[in-house]
Amino acid sequence: MTGAAGCGICTKLTKPDGVLYENALWQVRAIEPPTPVPGWVLLVSRRHLAGPAELDEREAESFGPTLRHLHRVLLDVTGALRIYLAAMGESAPHFHAHCVPRYAAMPKDAKAWGVFELQRAAVAGEIPVDEAAAARVAARYREALAAAPPPVPR
Ligand SMILES: [Zn+2]
Repeated sequence: MTGAAGCGICTKLTKPDGVLYENALWQVRAIEPPTPVPGWVLLVSRRHLAGPAELDEREAESFGPTLRHLHRVLLDVTGALRIYLAAMGESAPHFHAHCVPRYAAMPKDAKAWGVFELQRAAVAGEIPVDEAAAARVAARYREALAAAPPPVPR
């Protein structure tokens, strides 16, 4: 199922734009603008997967250590209080986990589930968006992951 013809995500995964880290199984990308929260990134499977139930053994072994490392580095780079994690699997045939820094100050004072509503609010122009700040955080995260990459899948 990898590289299925006609899949926009498969095409996107082959392009360098927006890639913050990648290996044989995963790619880490900044979300598409508008970026309501700097450091909002996606962990994307290279294969088509409806969700964790379809991880193969290699992906399942890699997932935990990869996610832990990505969150530790994102905490370090952003200074956020914690990193939120959500994966619904509604919008693409690739497993993609949203990793969102929860800062002390958030747009609309959002927290918990409300944070995931901020992407819609940003698209609707209801909250200010600072793409330059988001790009700076993304660049710092890319550099940090280049210096200290997640464990290489076996
Ligand atoms: Zn695809």
